Amino acid sequence: MVDATWGTGEPPRDVLGPVAGGGPAFDDDHPPAKELIADCVHCGFCLPTCPTYVLWGAEADSPRGRIHLMNQGVNGEPLTDSMVEHYDTCLGCMSCVTACPSGVKYDRLIEDTRAQVERRHPRTPKEKALRGAIFALFPYPRRLRLLRGPLRAYQATGLQRLITRSGLLERLAPTLATLDSLAPRLRTVPRPPQRVPARGPRRAVVGMLTGCVQSAFFPDVNSATVRVLAAEGCDVLIPPSQGCCGALSVHNGRKAEAQRFARKLIDTFEQTGMDYFVVNAAGCGSSLKEYDTLLADDPAYASRAAAFTAKVRDLAELLHTLGPVAERHPLDLTVAYHDACHLAHAQGIRTQPRSLLRDIPGLTLREIADPELCCGSAGIWNVLNPEPAAELGARKAANVLSTGASLLVTANPGCLMQIAAAAQRQGGRIALAHTAQVLDAAIRNLGPEALLNAR
Ligand code: SF4
Ligand code: SF4
Repeated sequence: MVDATWGTGEPPRDVLGPVAGGGPAFDDDHPPAKELIADCVHCGFCLPTCPTYVLWGAEADSPRGRIHLMNQGVNGEPLTDSMVEHYDTCLGCMSCVTACPSGVKYDRLIEDTRAQVERRHPRTPKEKALRGAIFALFPYPRRLRLLRGPLRAYQATGLQRLITRSGLLERLAPTLATLDSLAPRLRTVPRPPQRVPARGPRRAVVGMLTGCVQSAFFPDVNSATVRVLAAEGCDVLIPPSQGCCGALSVHNGRKAEAQRFARKLIDTFEQTGMDYFVVNAAGCGSSLKEYDTLLADDPAYASRAAAFTAKVRDLAELLHTLGPVAERHPLDLTVAYHDACHLAHAQGIRTQPRSLLRDIPGLTLREIADPELCCGSAGIWNVLNPEPAAELGARKAANVLSTGASLLVTANPGCLMQIAAAAQRQGGRIALAHTAQVLDAAIRNLGPEALLNAR
């Protein structure tokens, strides 16, 4: 539903809520840019693609409403709790960026706004504790890996099933229940070596990000990625000292922290002689492609960050550019491909993964209804907002299940966990895989069962 009154006049203030007292919302350190705000012509085309507007139908929870709130902020109005709530509930899915005919850079606007909010808005003790715990854990692969043992025991002993069935956790601590439902089934996979040579003539040298959640909970996706790259003629460099890319931090307004992670990753990879830096997680890829902006004000790193950014490629993007050399064996499978928001909306990568999948003999690709709508994962959004995230997850899972596909393929660990949890709650059965795993199975002639029985 589009509110037509916005096309011509003042925004409906009563819909956006009152603005209370306090100092000006934003300081001079990169406030949302007035000229970017002015690009919004209030047409409302973005509204039906915005998950929070679809859920709640409130103007202030739409891209147009949030841009209006930013405009109030840059015009000196204070940063109220209600304003912050509307910024916080944005999933950062960037569906509105794709939908906008005026080219409004909402991605830049919300990132700058969030950095201001994190610096200037006092969080409640509960919010502080939750965010503190998340950011002391998620961006640290080693800490995440320490969780694998206890988590495996929790799953293997049947305790997880018991707690889930009791519904107790959901009633007492919905956030913990969300984390519990998202935990993937863990399998042991050896860590990849530091350098894996190309099979056959070398076509490129690529540095590879192993990621935080990806390396701790989806190590088989990383192994498949390395094998596929090597089979396609790439030397793959995987320094074990690499850390987080900073995506979670930058998407949640923790700019200084994200900059620290970015500098360290550049230090780790820039002397390796790589032609490309390849990423198999959509959320990480989108922020790596913005290192030049993130470090633009840092004289020691600005040009290095720009050079690094120029080398970043999503896995499907790179494989598509290189073109296949490894033989694809048949996979008799019906696959539903889910566009991860940070791949489709933030990086514009839609055709490349589909084309890679279609090139596999025997594989049938099905499209999912409402592809532009986020599954509700959105980094840590599902942990901070468990109830609406579950609603979005349920919509996505229903659309996925109605394709009749036996395998869901996507390129982001968060989406895999979110959709798997939602499908399970609906009693649906669908196997899950990353694009890399499907290509790996086709190249190694593993047959469809290897994918259907993997998780
Ligand atoms: S980024 Fe997503 S949730 Fe946020 S305003 Fe845009 S469409 Fe809505
Ligand atoms: S963000 Fe773009 S699509 Fe949305 S109201 Fe503004 S101009 Fe229209």
